[in-house]
Amino acid sequence: MKRALCPGTFDPMTNGHLDIIERAAGIFDEVIVAVALSPDKGGGPLFTIDERVAFLREATAHLAGVSVRPFDSLLVDLARELDATAIVKGLRAVTDFEREFQMAQLNYRLDRAVETMFIVAIPDYMYLSSSAVKEIAEHGGSVKGLVPDHVNERLVDRLRKGR
Ligand code: ADP
Repeated sequence: MKRALCPGTFDPMTNGHLDIIERAAGIFDEVIVAVALSPDKGGGPLFTIDERVAFLREATAHLAGVSVRPFDSLLVDLARELDATAIVKGLRAVTDFEREFQMAQLNYRLDRAVETMFIVAIPDYMYLSSSAVKEIAEHGGSVKGLVPDHVNERLVDRLRKGR
């Protein structure tokens, strides 16, 4: 039984995230999407941890072997606790590389039994990020096709009411 973790902040999840989760689910028996609390990232997340988890649960409901859970600890500790042997990350343009390379090295130093693996973003989602989605939506632009429809609705709703 091979189990992998797909970690991130997912504020909110995008179709780029979903693509990586779906592809990881095709390789591993079980994929656990680990949603980081990340209280300080980018001035604090737009969506609560419960909202971010709920978005992902709805979007991955069709995928057997995929589950979603929040976390607020060292990723390698979570991997050990859940008996996951791999951390799977999506890799976009070169800008992701240095940060991801650093995290992979540090995690390897903390626990050599947990392997970090990368799945390369498809061209359609290469420049897609949660922060870009929020920026477009904040200025009234459409993010349809970049995030699942249920996320799109909640995003528009949240921004209309103000943060
Ligand atoms: P972000 O980097 O957008 O704030 P997260 O911290 O939630 O997003 O990212 C979680 C993981 O998903 C990271 O490994 C990141 O590289 C990956 N990821 C984010 N957006 C995409 C995308 N459009 N295509 C592929 N992977 C992505």
